[in-house]
Amino acid sequence: MLGIDPHRRMHPIYSPSTSAKKVIIVGGGPAGLMAAEVLIKAGLQVHLYDAKASVGRKFLIAGKGGMNLTHSEPLAEFLLRYYDKSTWLAPMLQQFGPAQMRDWAKGLGVETFVGSSGRVFPLDMKAAPLLRAWVRRLRHAGVVFHTQARWIGWDTSASAGRQALFSFAETARHESEPTHVSYDAMLLALGGGSWAKLGSDGQWQSILREAGVDISPLEPANCGFEVAWTEHLRSRFAGEPLKQVTLECVDDEGKPVARKGEFVITERGVEGSLIYAQSRWIRRALVKSAPVTVYLDLAPDLSAEKLAQVLAKPSRGKSIASVLKSRLGIQGVRAALLRECAPASAFTQPQSLVSYIKRLPLQIARTHPIDEAISSAGGVTVNAVNEQLMLHKLPGVFCAGEMLDWEAPTGGYLFTASFATGYAAACGMIDYVKS
Ligand SMILES: Cc1cc2nc3c(=O)[nH]c(=O)nc-3n(C[C@H](O)[C@H](O)[C@H](O)COP(=O)(O)OP(=O)(O)OC[C@H]3O[C@@H](n4cnc5c(N)ncnc54)[C@H](O)[C@@H]3O)c2cc1C
Repeated sequence: MLGIDPHRRMHPIYSPSTSAKKVIIVGGGPAGLMAAEVLIKAGLQVHLYDAKASVGRKFLIAGKGGMNLTHSEPLAEFLLRYYDKSTWLAPMLQQFGPAQMRDWAKGLGVETFVGSSGRVFPLDMKAAPLLRAWVRRLRHAGVVFHTQARWIGWDTSASAGRQALFSFAETARHESEPTHVSYDAMLLALGGGSWAKLGSDGQWQSILREAGVDISPLEPANCGFEVAWTEHLRSRFAGEPLKQVTLECVDDEGKPVARKGEFVITERGVEGSLIYAQSRWIRRALVKSAPVTVYLDLAPDLSAEKLAQVLAKPSRGKSIASVLKSRLGIQGVRAALLRECAPASAFTQPQSLVSYIKRLPLQIARTHPIDEAISSAGGVTVNAVNEQLMLHKLPGVFCAGEMLDWEAPTGGYLFTASFATGYAAACGMIDYVKS
């Protein structure tokens, strides 16, 4: 095992015996960059390749909506956000988890703060200063960056030994032959399958499948869903947020999972933090049978009894719309959604209306395309790698980041696990080249 100094986790012990070894990293997202940091500190020759003209494009886009680095909840709770992969990720997140994420940012001169939701952000909420300082530090330490270098597979001829193939076609179009790159150990940190324009296009799946690596298909995670709105709702309310509602769906065992939050009505359906938080369950239910009905509570802070009392008071000739508005604040998009999803008959019977306000059925037709999702689920399976994230089928080749088969909601969990797996794979690579 690599000697991780327990008091200085960010600094695996330098070993002069590894200095002549060359490791290559493919993918300059957070997982690949974190691995580069660990590997260069261990004294290895580190070459990082990325298909794009610059690294960390997805890391940068996160800064647009307020970069959420990690979460401040206790580690035991934090681990549960990775669903059935919690136990598998636990040792990696214990080695490099939320606390180390904050130390890492501080080490780059960026202080962090905990927001009201417990999420952790850089003080300025931005990604660019962090990425700039990080890449500068890595270059200074000796990491060699090769951009516009697309990894396309391996030279499998018997005499080739360990040689990865890269296409530099974007810079030198006249070059038709792939470039051979030899290595002692290789890391694939190629990302998931969303936002392909930022580099993570999932094309690696066919190369790894051909090499016999077990991969579960990439699927959208933290994604929006399609709903067949009427023209009235679409034209009048697309873009409107619904705040303080509860959305209930069922988990894999059919147990109800209810969450409070907010989401947005879009032209094609629903999006937003509450939808993302429930997206795993909705997506998995859709695979079993589509469409899927989820239930909204439009007045989560009022009991059904209270609602019934309020609606039972004499309305003195007022319309039901104005009663809902004046007594319950159900107006605008909230009222429109009630009209859209409840039958007309409900509006003539207070008791029935109460049931629909508390449990409004919403039919979800399908997920939005994977390319629009914040992240993807699926990828290289847990069984395809050893505990140091080396592929069983390809000794010397490791995997890290979102291309591994885990998923998590938004809240900084995606970056944290990408960093943690990058860190763990790098430790594995050091052990591997030493042995
Ligand atoms: C809009 C948006 C906002 C987000 N905000 C947050 C947030 O606030 N907090 C959070 O925790 N997460 C957030 N995420 C998710 C987070 O960005 C990803 O989970 C994370 O970047 C995954 O890191 P990675 O290193 O595994 O892969 P990536 O960051 O996707 O990097 C993969 C790299 O591999 C390169 N690559 C792919 N194929 C090849 C190839 N064949 N050859 C060479 N290079 C290749 C790509 O060019 C890319 O640079 C957000 C995502 C999006 C889309």
